[in-house]
Amino acid sequence: MDLPYAEPYRNKTIEPLRRSTRYERDAWIAEAKYNLFNLRSEYVFVDLLTDSGTGAMSSAQWAEMMLGDESYAGATSYYKLKETIEDLLGFTYFLPTHQGRAAENVLFSALIGVGDAGAGKVVPGNSHFDTTKGHIEFRKACAIDCTIDEAFDTQVEHPFKGNVDLEKLESVLKAYPRESIPLCMLTITCNSSGGQPVSMENIKDVSALCKRYGVPLFFDSARFAENAYFIKKREPGYEDKDIRTIVWEMFSYADGMTMSSKKDGIVNIGGFVAFKDPELWRKTSTFNIMFEGFNTYGGMAGRDMGALSVGLREATEFDYLESRVGQVAYLGRLLTGYGIDVQRPYGGHAIFVDAKRMLPAVPKEEFQAQTLGVELYREAGVRGVEIGTLLADRDPETGMERYPALELLRLAIPRRTYTNAHMDYVAAALANVKERASAITRGYRIVYEAPIMRHFTVELEPAD
Ligand SMILES: *Cc1c(COP(=O)(O)O)cnc(C)c1O
Repeated sequence: MDLPYAEPYRNKTIEPLRRSTRYERDAWIAEAKYNLFNLRSEYVFVDLLTDSGTGAMSSAQWAEMMLGDESYAGATSYYKLKETIEDLLGFTYFLPTHQGRAAENVLFSALIGVGDAGAGKVVPGNSHFDTTKGHIEFRKACAIDCTIDEAFDTQVEHPFKGNVDLEKLESVLKAYPRESIPLCMLTITCNSSGGQPVSMENIKDVSALCKRYGVPLFFDSARFAENAYFIKKREPGYEDKDIRTIVWEMFSYADGMTMSSKKDGIVNIGGFVAFKDPELWRKTSTFNIMFEGFNTYGGMAGRDMGALSVGLREATEFDYLESRVGQVAYLGRLLTGYGIDVQRPYGGHAIFVDAKRMLPAVPKEEFQAQTLGVELYREAGVRGVEIGTLLADRDPETGMERYPALELLRLAIPRRTYTNAHMDYVAAALANVKERASAITRGYRIVYEAPIMRHFTVELEPAD
C-alpha cells in the first residue's frame, strides 16, 4: 500500500501544557471580556488562535541563533538572509522589518504616501489581510476585493479559491487613473478567504493585467510555500516540478513582496519587504530607517535573521509541506466526519468552521463566529479565532457594521508544534459543541471597541 506522510522530524524538547476544568474556563473567559485574545496562554490547552510566530524552530535554526551577528551595520546574518531571499525568491533588494505589518507600513509609506495621502486611491487585490487593509485605510485609501465569487461559498469545491476575478480587477484598473492605483496586492495563500491558494495561471494573468495598466504588483507572501505546495498538488503541469522551482516561478511575476516571517519563515518574529527595482528599494528604505531600523537589520536581531534564512529553506521542502498541509487536512477530515461544515477545500494553515451553519439561531448582530469560539474554549480549552463581523470592522465612512459574507471560526495550526492526537482532541471538542448547538441562541454585544482593528481589544458581554 501507499505509505502515509509522517513528519520529517522528531521531538528534541517539549513544552508542558496544562488542562483545566470547565469551571475555571468559565471564569477566565468572563474575566477576558469574552475576547479570546485577552486570555493568558496558560489558560489554553490547544492554542489554535494563530499560526503566526507560534511554530517550532528546528535544531538547525537554533544553532543559527548562536551564530547571530549583532553588528549594527553589515551583519553576517543580514547577508545570509539576503542570499537566501535572492536564491529562493529571486529578489535582489530587501529590507528587514519586525513583522509583516511593518513591511506593509514602510512599503505603503513609499507607494501610497503618509497621512491622508491615500485619499481617492485604491489598492485592488484578493481579500486583503486585516493589517494590510488597516494600513491602506489608515492612509484614507480603499482596498478593493476582487476575489472570485466561489471563495464566498464555503461548500463550493474550487482548487484555487484565492484567485482574483480578472474581470473585477480589470474594471478597477479601468475605472481609476493610473496615479490613483499605487499597487495591486495579491495575497498568497489568501488568508481572509480561508488559507486558499492562488493558481500559477491566475498569478500570471494578474501580472499581465497589471503590466498592461502600468500598476506594480506586490505579493503579500506570508504563506508562499503553502501556496506553492497547492500548485504542485492541484495545477496541471506542476505535479513533477519541485517546490523551489514553483516558488521561483511565482515570484518571477511580482515586482515585489511583503513577508510576515512568522508564517512560512517558521520564526517567532520578523518580516521583510523585497523588490526587484533598486529605486523603489531606495525610496522605501527611508521609511524603514525611520520606522524600523537601519537597512541591514530593520526590526530584527541578527540571530533572528539567521534563523529566518534557515526557516525559509526548511519551509520550501516538500516533505515538510506535505506533513504540514496534511495535518491541517487531517483535522478537516475529522470535523467533516462529525458533520461539521468547514470551508472546502481545506486551507493550507487552518480549518475554517462555518459558524452560520453551526449556530443558525444566534443573530448575526450578536457575532456568531465569536460565540462559537467562546463555546469551544469553554468546552475544552481550545482557542480559535473569529473571522467574521468583529474582524470585518465598521465601514470607515458610515460607521455601520460591515457584515461579511462568511462567519468563520478559524482553527489555525502552528507549524511543527502539535500532534495529530491534539487534532483528535480539538475535533471531539467541537463535535461536543455541535451536539448542544441548538441550545445556543444568543451571542454577545460590544461594550468597548477601538476605532480600527477592534477585534484584538474588543470587550463583550453576553447578549441575553
Ligand atoms: C500575518 C499576515 C500579515 C501581517 O503580518 P504580521 O507579521 O502579523 O504583522 C499580513 N498578511 C498576511 C496574509 C498575513 O497572514
